[in-house]
Amino acid sequence: MTQPVFRFAPSPNGRLHLGHAFSALENARLAARFGGRLLLRIEDIDTTRCRPELEAALVDDLAWLGLPFEPDPVRQSERFPVYEAAAAGLRARGLLYPCACSRKEIAAAIAAREAETGRPWPRDPDGAPLYPGTCRGRDPDAVLAEAAREGRPVAWRLDIGRALAAAPGPHLYQRFAEDDATETVSADPARWGDVVLVRKETPTSYHLAVVVDDAAQAVTHVVRGRDLEAATDLHVLLQRLLGLPTPLYRHHGLVRDEAGAKLAKSLGSRPLAELREAGWSPQDVRAALAGAAPSSD
Ligand code: GLU
Repeated sequence: MTQPVFRFAPSPNGRLHLGHAFSALENARLAARFGGRLLLRIEDIDTTRCRPELEAALVDDLAWLGLPFEPDPVRQSERFPVYEAAAAGLRARGLLYPCACSRKEIAAAIAAREAETGRPWPRDPDGAPLYPGTCRGRDPDAVLAEAAREGRPVAWRLDIGRALAAAPGPHLYQRFAEDDATETVSADPARWGDVVLVRKETPTSYHLAVVVDDAAQAVTHVVRGRDLEAATDLHVLLQRLLGLPTPLYRHHGLVRDEAGAKLAKSLGSRPLAELREAGWSPQDVRAALAGAAPSSD
């Protein structure tokens, strides 16, 4: 059997907090349990919000925690050509289309549909309204020419209808448990609608980069928060479309503070650096997190 490969994939757009520490510790714990490798991947595609000093701080925080990541992490900002090639392949198959709609235009189109039908417009699992399809079915060259004339940036969206026709369901993945037993999960990629796979300001998106890199790094076990569980539905479809393997997944509970809010969004999102300065040891962090988030078993 090949050696399992785990990865922790933070974005250096802020300081690591206890929620990140929990995810990193879960990856390290399970990698050790399964005799796997432990990789770090820097997900810095958002070059406006991700900064080198935040990456350095992140690496430093993880080293302080004492986690045995392999050296030389992959940095997504250095892999744009690889994501561009993946997008080009999908584009050549007619699965992506260009879209220059602004947020305002999308909101207006949705408001008009809601007024017309008297029903709320469907939303994706993150709560964002599904794209109403304004640019779907338009001649791509005409959309590109018009955008160029008007100086408007273009995103590329997945045509979910065509994508599902190209890779019909059922879309399944395996969730793995503590004892490595697996359970089949049925994914529903359609609930994401025509998602953006190539953003206006960067030549990829989280969804595209994450599936390309999990495959490129031969990741076998993805351990991440339950806030990304619904995204896995889309990732499974993208893997099918791109001919990539689907790793095993495990979505852990989110660390919560007393108020029950997700750490990242609450006052409880204490940066590890702050805790370090207040005299916490890595053992204190581990103790504080023990039992703080239910695992997915
Ligand atoms: N970069 C993502 C985040 O920080 C995590 C990606 C993943 O684990 O798939 O939320």
